[in-house]
Amino acid sequence: MGENTSNGTSCKHHMIGGDGPNSYAHNSQYQKQLLISAEDLIPQLIDRYLNTQNVCFNPQNTFTIADFGCSIGPNTFFAIKNIISAVENKYQKSNGNQNLDFQVFFNDLIDNDFNTLFRNLPSKRKYLVAGVPGSFYTRLFPKKSILFAHCSTALHWLSRSPKEFTKSGKNEGRIHYLGGEKEVKEAYAAQYEEDFGVFLRARGDELTDGGLMALVVLGFDDGVDSSESSIGIAFEILGSCLEDMAKLGKITKEKVDSFNLPFYYPSPSELKAIIEANGSFHVEKIAELGAPMRHKPDPQVVTSHLRAVIGVLVEQHFGNGVVDELFKCHFEKFVKSPILVDEKYWKETNYFVFLKKN
Ligand code: SAH
Repeated sequence: MGENTSNGTSCKHHMIGGDGPNSYAHNSQYQKQLLISAEDLIPQLIDRYLNTQNVCFNPQNTFTIADFGCSIGPNTFFAIKNIISAVENKYQKSNGNQNLDFQVFFNDLIDNDFNTLFRNLPSKRKYLVAGVPGSFYTRLFPKKSILFAHCSTALHWLSRSPKEFTKSGKNEGRIHYLGGEKEVKEAYAAQYEEDFGVFLRARGDELTDGGLMALVVLGFDDGVDSSESSIGIAFEILGSCLEDMAKLGKITKEKVDSFNLPFYYPSPSELKAIIEANGSFHVEKIAELGAPMRHKPDPQVVTSHLRAVIGVLVEQHFGNGVVDELFKCHFEKFVKSPILVDEKYWKETNYFVFLKKN
């Protein structure tokens, strides 16, 4: 499965934990905005596609929901609340069994700060809770045991960075495929296709017949020059800061050259093609979501967000003592970058994907 270990649980892709100023909990407004823009779609689609008659329950009438790549909150709580109230409404409308017990499984990588997640659970919640550690690129649940799967802003995390091009030096001076050579982008796309296929097959096994799955996916429309975007610029600046630090002898050039961020941003046509080829699910809807970065970015917010998301990964690759300087440099360069004055960079698209199990 391309992960660092055979059970796929030890790679350090997780977010910065705890409640501190650099934590994910305090730097995930961007992801929250995406959930807000999907807020109305969830009840509409649950109302339309959840079959309260056919969905097979266990004898205790437990409605099982799993959030894949939940991180440490609070966004996952927001998403779950929205799903549960939509399911309740649907049952009320269709006079189905209204005494449902909701069981929510929070999944993330084993190193995720589950303690913070559980500590911050909403006190007034309508669901029972369990944590499920492990990569979502593996099977995590028994067959046909989940009724609703949710995964937001997590599937762009590949199971590994593609390495095929590193020997040829094709991506030197860059830490990502955005703005890079075709061959590099193709290696990333192939990794995404493999990973997303594995994800769909695992969820296909785990969901009940007629089970539903909602995904919030970061991506770019076909034909868009994604290097000229906030994300593209942020990664380019980060790469140039690492190069500066290598020139000053603070890190080695080899380390910089072997650092490639494990992110891929698919287009809707790529998503559709992978889902159709996979065959586990049927696409009920793909919709473009509001895009939090389609305006002049705030350098501090962008830098803090990036640090909360990839700080652990940077430390893992370069060792301790690099992160503060790297993100200080990122902020200073971002403030001077053309992105703050030129609207052509303020483009971004994200997608809401709603699937029904075949
Ligand atoms: N869904 C949350 C968190 C998004 S951040 C929200 O909307 O705010 C992405 C999360 O995906 C991180 O917590 C990261 O640890 C997790 N993640 C990345 N790769 C993963 C994998 N292979 N399996 C499980 N979780 C993963």
